[in-house]
Amino acid sequence: MLLSYTREHEMYRESLRKFLQKEVVPYFREWEKDRQVPREVWKAFGRQGFLCPWLPEEYGGSGVGFEYALILIEEMSRADVDIPISLHSEVVVPYLYSYGTDEQKRRWLPGCASGDLITAVAMTEPDAGSDLAALRTTAVRDVDTYILNGQKVFITNGWDCDLVIVACKTGNDPKPHRNISLLVVEEGTPGFIKAKKLNKMGRHSEGTAELVFEDCRVPARNLLGQEGKGFYYLMEKLQQERLIASMGSLCAAEKMFQEGLEYAKTRRAFGQPIGSFQHNSFKLAEMATEVEIARTFVERLVMEHIQGRELVMEASMAKWWVSEMANRVAAQVLQLHGGYGYMEEYPICRHYQNVRVDTIYAGTNEIMKSIIAKRLGL
Ligand SMILES: Cc1cc2nc3c(=O)[nH]c(=O)nc-3n(C[C@H](O)[C@H](O)[C@H](O)COP(=O)(O)OP(=O)(O)OC[C@H]3O[C@@H](n4cnc5c(N)ncnc54)[C@H](O)[C@@H]3O)c2cc1C
Repeated sequence: MLLSYTREHEMYRESLRKFLQKEVVPYFREWEKDRQVPREVWKAFGRQGFLCPWLPEEYGGSGVGFEYALILIEEMSRADVDIPISLHSEVVVPYLYSYGTDEQKRRWLPGCASGDLITAVAMTEPDAGSDLAALRTTAVRDVDTYILNGQKVFITNGWDCDLVIVACKTGNDPKPHRNISLLVVEEGTPGFIKAKKLNKMGRHSEGTAELVFEDCRVPARNLLGQEGKGFYYLMEKLQQERLIASMGSLCAAEKMFQEGLEYAKTRRAFGQPIGSFQHNSFKLAEMATEVEIARTFVERLVMEHIQGRELVMEASMAKWWVSEMANRVAAQVLQLHGGYGYMEEYPICRHYQNVRVDTIYAGTNEIMKSIIAKRLGL
């Protein structure tokens, strides 16, 4: 490990570990079956200081560094629970903090830290995913409101959110990315419709939804930052989103590798542990190597991100490579389990399903490679 942790880090990790074991692990499989995490759980995370811990104290945080995000992802992965806490704390709330006015921050941030306000970010539309600038949702200014019309899909936390940051078109500049603005829409606003909770291959606890806005009047004071700057704000924040995604893929790969290693040592065939067959031991040796390389790279990027370095290319590299590595590990560990790997009661079955989306969301891996290629002058 490159990151060095202090006593404060270890105390945070220990209290998070205890909290997860007591308040989350015993109930998590039930919530997954129901495809719903109770709101109270978010509030419990908030009470313990596990939501947005980086926020300044005046807004309910503890002012800690980005490495705490990695501790949370590691411990959630070790406890084998997935709730989109990191998306809320490290991806969505930073928009409110960076681009919000003082009044907006006072209005929303304490609730984000306490778990009273669950957040989401809605960029993707049925006809605009990778090509964000092609989005069609419009917001037309009418005195002191914006009239919002459009549809968003695949929105994580969309079903449960109290606040959603919506990327929408507010202008007609020939350069489409200059037309995008970010509006914060609050639950209960007339015309804001949570249209459908989507059935997915995995990550059943994530309340992924389709959202519709029908003549939804959003107060103009809910505009985030300046009109027409939304695309730039999104680009600025994607570095951290992609690092978070890489951290998730890394921790999933580590967990799956450990499961594969243990299984290979205990499952026997032809009178010997299956891990003693050269093919399987070489596969595990390869996985151990790849996981180690990923950890070294991701930790380096976490350190450099904390130092404020611009890492658009490196974060894109980590996002595509670590997510593909995690998918290789998932496939190989499932294969090592034989028929048991295909059974839902074996964790690898769930992990295999959950990790599949890692190459798709937070920008597809093809888009990551386009970013890298552009930076290489191609
Ligand atoms: C579980 C889940 C959660 C999500 N959460 C959110 C969320 O919270 N908020 C949100 O806004 N979105 C979210 N998304 C949406 C996600 O970011 C998009 O699915 C993703 O950006 C791809 O867009 P698309 O699905 O429209 O695919 P498309 O853009 O239609 O792409 C289809 C295929 O073509 C490839 N492709 C497209 N353009 C190029 C190109 N220029 N070069 C090479 N290949 C290309 C893509 O890589 C992909 O393989 C989520 C998606 C999922 C599945």
